[in-house]
Amino acid sequence: MSVRDTFNKHLLHPWSDLPNLGEDDSTPVIVRGEGVYIYDDNGQRMIDGPGGMWCMQTGYGRQEIADRVATQIVELGYSTAFSTINPLEAELAQRIAEKTPGDLNRVFFTTGGSTAVDSALRLCQLARNIRGEPQRKHILCRDKGYHGSTYLSASVTGKERDKTAMDTAVDLVHFLTAPCAFYQEQEFASEEAFCDFLIAELEAKIAELGPENIMCFIAEPILGSGGVLVPPKGYNRRCWEVVKRHGITYIADEVVTAFGRLGHWFASETLFDVVPDIITFAKGVTSGYLPLGGYAVSDAFMAEISGDNAEGNCYSNGFTWSANPVSCAAALESWDIIEREQLLEHVRDVGPYFQAQLRTLMDLPLVADVRGMGMMAAVEMSLGSDAEGEALLEQDYHLGDLIDSHCREFGLLVRPLINVCIMSPPLILTREQVDDLVSAL
Ligand code: PLP
Repeated sequence: MSVRDTFNKHLLHPWSDLPNLGEDDSTPVIVRGEGVYIYDDNGQRMIDGPGGMWCMQTGYGRQEIADRVATQIVELGYSTAFSTINPLEAELAQRIAEKTPGDLNRVFFTTGGSTAVDSALRLCQLARNIRGEPQRKHILCRDKGYHGSTYLSASVTGKERDKTAMDTAVDLVHFLTAPCAFYQEQEFASEEAFCDFLIAELEAKIAELGPENIMCFIAEPILGSGGVLVPPKGYNRRCWEVVKRHGITYIADEVVTAFGRLGHWFASETLFDVVPDIITFAKGVTSGYLPLGGYAVSDAFMAEISGDNAEGNCYSNGFTWSANPVSCAAALESWDIIEREQLLEHVRDVGPYFQAQLRTLMDLPLVADVRGMGMMAAVEMSLGSDAEGEALLEQDYHLGDLIDSHCREFGLLVRPLINVCIMSPPLILTREQVDDLVSAL
């Protein structure tokens, strides 16, 4: 049986199109990767536009990562964080603590982004109970935010299409307007006016629920899977000020934006002037080579829920592969490559060019919007008039499939989210490769 036949018969993939299950004839079979390129089973070479799933920071085929991982497997292929400590998690945690803002000095490792978000939310639940505030149950988040696929992380995810048919913790979760002017039917006189509206909405929601009943606010600095929504200037900082003024925990979900995607190890403080209580990360931490995620939490937060304050409590949350030494080895090597090849500086240099070149596509009638920052961007296609747009959405992934199959012929993998081409290429992308990517698109 061919790989495709076996796939159709035996595999269920994330976000499978169920009406057409078992009838796939377009998902590419990828067999090899090198640098920014991936190759399908026909030998077609393509720039990896989405960079795997926003995670291939240092690019494919890294012998250094392979060597470090192989050495680690032979040295110590597994170690459990439930009862032992491995030196690699210690080194990685120290490096992360040095790069996170403020006093976010304590790191909890998980298996990926969803488990990082889930674990952070569970830590907040434990904290409010230890602090004697059991009523503090509500969570504030945003429309179009994406935080994962476990029960709790999916519950705080605001993408309409993703939450229709599976249960979530709806009673606890409150969605605020996505901070993206492009999606606003209401016109605002300026970016500042739109930001004022968003902040007023946040204040009103806090007043309605009562600040003493709200556990946390969770937000991606730039909403990734929701369509690379760059918030209005000052929005993140103003949200943080409001949230902190009301004694609510601020979680920055940096699963996409950390590890160089925006030209910095973490984006919260450097780019948005925010010092969260908790930052979640995953994806780029290992350059996608092995599963790993986690969060960094502030010393101040932990001081309130440890020592004498925590009588009779433990943090009963963790995973068989928490702080796996082999994953940590991949992360340390990826980190070394980012430093050695000055990839943060590279993103700060090439990122603006990448954005500017993509913006030239605005001249095309089909293109409705181009937005982004650093090495993350979205090119959004117009869906025409409302009626036409609805019809296209009804056809589900049809428009995306069209764009994808054409681009693949021109040497670019796009895999659009319906009508939005998400771009999150490996950070090593050169100016020449930016030109190739944009001309293919
Ligand atoms: N948080 C954000 C911001 C994400 O974009 C994602 C995945 O795309 C997740 C969490 C979930 O991460 P994972 O797929 O590793 O569970």
